[in-house]
Amino acid sequence: MKKVRDKKEISLRVSHKEAYIINKKAFKLIYSHYPQMIISWIACVIWNALTPYASIYLSALIIEEISTDRNPEKLKSLVIITLTVTAAISLINAFLSKWKDTQCAGMFYKVNRILANKLLDMDYVTIDDIKTHERLSTIKQNQNGGGWGLIRVIWNYDSIISAIFTFIGGIALTVSLFVKAVPQGSGRLTALNNPVFIFAVIGIMLLVTCISPALSNKAGSYYANRAENHNLGNRLFGFFGWLGHSREYASDVRIYRQDLICDKYNSDKTNTFGSKGIFARMAKGPVGLYNAAAAVVSVIFTGVVYIFVCLKAYGGAFGVGLVTQYISSITKVSASVSQLIETVGDMRNNASFLKPVFDFLEIPNTMRQGDKAIEKNDCIDYEIEFRNVSFKYPGSDEYALKNVSMRLKAGERLAVVGENGSGKTTFIKLLCRLYEPTEGMILLNGINIADYNYLEYLSMFSVVFQDFRLFAFTLGQNVGTRVEYDKEIVESCLCKAGFGERLNKMEEGTETYIYKEFSKKGVDISGGEAQKIALARTLYRASPFIILDEPTAALDPVAESQVYSNFNDIVGDKSAIYISHRLSSCRFCNDIAVFHKGELVQRGSHESLKEDAGGKYYELWNAQAQYYNS
Ligand code: ADP
Repeated sequence: MKKVRDKKEISLRVSHKEAYIINKKAFKLIYSHYPQMIISWIACVIWNALTPYASIYLSALIIEEISTDRNPEKLKSLVIITLTVTAAISLINAFLSKWKDTQCAGMFYKVNRILANKLLDMDYVTIDDIKTHERLSTIKQNQNGGGWGLIRVIWNYDSIISAIFTFIGGIALTVSLFVKAVPQGSGRLTALNNPVFIFAVIGIMLLVTCISPALSNKAGSYYANRAENHNLGNRLFGFFGWLGHSREYASDVRIYRQDLICDKYNSDKTNTFGSKGIFARMAKGPVGLYNAAAAVVSVIFTGVVYIFVCLKAYGGAFGVGLVTQYISSITKVSASVSQLIETVGDMRNNASFLKPVFDFLEIPNTMRQGDKAIEKNDCIDYEIEFRNVSFKYPGSDEYALKNVSMRLKAGERLAVVGENGSGKTTFIKLLCRLYEPTEGMILLNGINIADYNYLEYLSMFSVVFQDFRLFAFTLGQNVGTRVEYDKEIVESCLCKAGFGERLNKMEEGTETYIYKEFSKKGVDISGGEAQKIALARTLYRASPFIILDEPTAALDPVAESQVYSNFNDIVGDKSAIYISHRLSSCRFCNDIAVFHKGELVQRGSHESLKEDAGGKYYELWNAQAQYYNS
């Protein structure tokens, strides 16, 4: 099997300034959505960073007392204070953790909801664009693969705040190490009091402290720069490891033994995550070396600290109690500096993955949002006019609709027919303002539809598209399209749409779940039943225009024709637009618009159009007649 591998390494590094700006922006974004979550998180981090010093300090006092005066009264009070403080710390810790756990429950989903909400707010034209989905897919892959992106911002701020407070606490308990002098008369050890020596030791400690995380960061950057390989590897593993064996492929896999292809991939040691793959090679090579070097350097640091502290204690600068305090605190200070540097490096790596997140979140909405209210009363005469409307899909040079001019009146029935690809759905999408015309304009009662409040305009239409979807919610919620719905109206709409018989057999009526995703008692429904529910949904919504855009394409022509004419009987005084490439389905309409290659080529009744021997309708009718002549 041909190996699917991308050896390209992309340099993702951004400047420190850029990294700072984008991380801050991401933090603000998350905070603006979930302030309580962030505040509770930070409170916990600070508390956990500072409190260990209380026990370090108090333990040092106890050890010091035991190793010097051994005063029982003083020891007793020290033990009581230590126990009380430790208990208070644990209590507050429990309280803070509970607060944080409550606020941070489902944090991963909360952060992802920021992306999901953007999808909801986008112009339809953007969401229909494949590039939008490619962007989102890259963001998801970065997140699922290496944990890069928005979620990492929280971990990084956690790490940086924890490091800063650990550093502050540690320094407070360490300063006296450099101030307490070895008493004169301690021989050569008095050299430890020399400021040059002190600065030299601090310098070595700092240097060693900084080298270690720099080496770890270097190791980490190898993974960041290979994120594309990681993502591709995940996708391949996802397919060959799981999907290739899943239910939807099961029959083909068995008949053609395609599992052998999956096994070949799964046992290939050179694939991305295999023992001879790119990540294994990196771990054995540079990444492993850098990590090992980082560990060695941090051992050197510990050694320097121990020698310095012990020599000073040996020289008589302080007692055993302070030895434990200094060693514990200074080790924490060093760890915090390393953590700080490592996190800054990680934030810089993550900045490259935050860029696509913001590119996605900042996709502008270009659709004009008018504010005009639509006049509404029962006897209002709506009239929609297409005036010289042409349309090209974004990125396409071809006109999907060309110079279409026509009028539609409320309460009338219109059939839109034409071959596949003739522009019928495009016409409907423009009518519903999912897209804006490239040229010309659409008017409602003489006013450009772009001037009306967008959501209000959208609510004028109930559409069942060919690829309509029902959700795994209850039947009532699917028809009523809200959590709270009017049960009686839902039932009446379902009955009108021909679903009454099945509804009567459902024990939980409109509260029955469709499909089984959210309820074990959920019911499976056939394609025909799904159509009936979708039709009931259009009836439930009190919108003046109802549109059926070939939701019955999977039925045979005769069955489709029946659904359409039955539906026509129940829509009452609403306007209805029927779309089909099968002319028989729409012949009951007095008004038929014929589309061909994006143009409106004919309009009239079935009888008149059928007589026009030179017209497109005549040609299509005779071509399709074999299906329904009998
Ligand atoms: P119909 O509904 O009559 O089958 P459509 O309105 O769906 O036709 O399509 C009209 C033309 O627009 C076709 O040439 C089709 O390929 C093209 N088209 C439809 N949707 C898109 C899209 N999202 N992007 C680019 N071209 C499209």
